[in-house]
Amino acid sequence: MADYYELLGVSRTASADEIKKSYRRLARELHPDANPGDPAAEEKFKQVARAYEVLSDPDQRARYDRFGEQGMGGAGAGAGDFFGGGAGGLGDLFDAFFGGGSPFGGTRGPAGPPRGQDLEVVADIAFEQAVFGATVPVTVRTASRCDDCNGSGAGGGTQPVTCSECNGRGQVQRVRQSMLGQMVTSSACPKCGGLGQVVVTPCPTCSGEGRTIGEKVYQVDVPAGVDTGSTLRLTGRGAVGQRGGAAGDLYVHLRVAPHAHFRREADDLVAVLPVSIAQASLGTKFTLATLEGDEEIVVPPGTQPGREFVLRQRGVPRLQGRGRGDLRVRIDVQVPTKLSDFEAELLRKFAESRGEELHHETGLFARIKSAFQ
Ligand SMILES: [Zn+2]
Ligand SMILES: [Zn+2]
Repeated sequence: MADYYELLGVSRTASADEIKKSYRRLARELHPDANPGDPAAEEKFKQVARAYEVLSDPDQRARYDRFGEQGMGGAGAGAGDFFGGGAGGLGDLFDAFFGGGSPFGGTRGPAGPPRGQDLEVVADIAFEQAVFGATVPVTVRTASRCDDCNGSGAGGGTQPVTCSECNGRGQVQRVRQSMLGQMVTSSACPKCGGLGQVVVTPCPTCSGEGRTIGEKVYQVDVPAGVDTGSTLRLTGRGAVGQRGGAAGDLYVHLRVAPHAHFRREADDLVAVLPVSIAQASLGTKFTLATLEGDEEIVVPPGTQPGREFVLRQRGVPRLQGRGRGDLRVRIDVQVPTKLSDFEAELLRKFAESRGEELHHETGLFARIKSAFQ
């Protein structure tokens, strides 16, 4: 990938404003909608977006200025996913960065520190927070840049120096003869561990790592409409890499607590409303406390069990797309399990007036029984 400053058509000393302006102009010009079926424009569009992502962030820009594209870690084309990689998997990272066939496709620049690992955390949120969205604090144990050495790992006001073994390339090549001819093996430089720089006087706070481990609390914006199993990806909120390496990403897996009265069915909210036989038969009104205030539900005479009353657009906002689901109120007709003598007598009278047989052997019950014999 070309130089980020060149891509955006700005000088290396350009202000944040200049970078933003130039990016906006280019993004309009190169946007796929403005260039349908033009893969070259699309590719350029992606590169410009990537360049802006880095240069618009002061931290990332400083790192880019210092280490070039290699220093930007996995966020570059094709190298993004070291998801789940073990802590300090330096060997793996370096294979991916500098091993045969650079994932960046371009010529190799000077070595840079590896990107930090991605982190995963589970966040418990309330039902209402999932429905309406919320900002929730999420605590992670993570590696942060060491303040005392500003991430360089060098202490006492010193700076890391270029590794003499690999001349800052971070890797060394060995040539040996094999049956197939000369073989060139590249491996991470043993002196600098592949970083290209060595720290002569390590920072006492981080022992030369450039990062410290501790707990951090992030305020995470949870969008309305998430559900258990939704995962939020926070770019650059994972562990920072060694000695100024870019941070990995933080994946927040959400777990939504159940609600006492409502449950989710996709984007719909469903509440079950228990009514008595008399209420279902004669009709009644209920005041339902929804998540957004009271609603009057009119149960008309003759309402059957399982009938649903639908309050349109009162459900969960759609995470992808517009609008909201519905709020569905499902009627559950409750049959009394204990009757007083008086109530039983009333019901017998009721059955009698409708011509229903209760004790007769040839009634419906007897017919069902005989069907099972
Ligand atoms: Zn330090
Ligand atoms: Zn070295």
